[in-house]
Amino acid sequence: MTSAELDSPPAPPLLLLRDAELHAPEALGRCDVLLAHGRILAIGQGLDPRGCGVPVTVIEAAGDVLAPGLVDGLVHPGGGGGEGGFATRMAPLNAGTALAAGVTTLIGALGTDDVTRSHADLLACARALATRGLSVYILSGSYRVPAVTLTGCIRRDLVLVPEMIGVGEIAIADHRGSQPSAAELARIAADARVGGMLAGKSGTVLVHCGDAPEGLALLREASTRWPVPIRQWHPTHVNRNARLLADGFAFVREGGSIDFTTSSTPGFAAAGEVPAARALAEALAAGLPIARLSLSSDGQASLPHFDAEGRLCSLEVAPIGSLLAAVQSAVQTHGVPLATALAAATATPAAIWGLARKGRIAPGMDADLLLLDRATLALKTTIAGGRCWRPS
Ligand code: ZN
Repeated sequence: MTSAELDSPPAPPLLLLRDAELHAPEALGRCDVLLAHGRILAIGQGLDPRGCGVPVTVIEAAGDVLAPGLVDGLVHPGGGGGEGGFATRMAPLNAGTALAAGVTTLIGALGTDDVTRSHADLLACARALATRGLSVYILSGSYRVPAVTLTGCIRRDLVLVPEMIGVGEIAIADHRGSQPSAAELARIAADARVGGMLAGKSGTVLVHCGDAPEGLALLREASTRWPVPIRQWHPTHVNRNARLLADGFAFVREGGSIDFTTSSTPGFAAAGEVPAARALAEALAAGLPIARLSLSSDGQASLPHFDAEGRLCSLEVAPIGSLLAAVQSAVQTHGVPLATALAAATATPAAIWGLARKGRIAPGMDADLLLLDRATLALKTTIAGGRCWRPS
């Protein structure tokens, strides 16, 4: 923690973004956006609140792209990893790193290590990040089944802890998971669903998909044998290989949603991973709806590479900045319209996770926005909870 982080300025009472190319995420043309006390107050042309008696901070957008702040559906705020022993535990996420990545809302999970990592620590990390204007939610459970919880059960976690909005990432088809049965998964989804209903939350279950050949079969089985809606699941890492990607496309056609991981390594690519931006373009070309396709960074996770015998060869930290990079790549390399690419990292994850004031630019929504260079889509300004961050 630096003194600059502790001293981050509060949100100005009124902030006017003038003459921006608005992507809400749908393209709405040139207009002004007025923010007040951490919310979006008004959108229109020629907005001029000067003279209302409250100081106004003005940012001249001059035609740059104004987009919703990114909603990153999987991050490890306390650090992930540990698959190579204690020295391979990843460091916690720094707020400045998230802001520099254009991420204003993130959903934090434990991951593989639920022994030296805890939900109490995850909650503390989330609340520390929130002091910088970030909106941070967390998930009950970990890779393991039966699910590890904060209060003793999933339902209580969701009902009693405001930041807890779902469960995950529960691991399936992975040598690091608990090899759960369909019945165990159905029980977790049912608890998450009822806990979510009682608390007014989505209760979505984020499912970590490994590279074992059964793919998403367990989720189908759980939703076929028991009355667990297929939309309760949100499987991630579905771009891990072409076989799982094809299974994921089928899962969306059956009514489900899927998530593509934007962090990668040369080892993952050599193992057949489909880059997230390309996976998104292929899914759209296959006619799948953007409302059920999301991108997430897996930020601060370890990116382990195992050899054919299952030995750990190398480990890298997953960059949260890969999320914006994937949006840029989807547009610039794969021809995905900007509004659609943005939706995969804003409106879609916000809807899947039940975050009603996130992921869109509209009056009444939270003041989480990005200014992107109109030509390169490079990040120029992040506004999180009405507070401005700019690269130094
Ligand atoms: Zn995972």
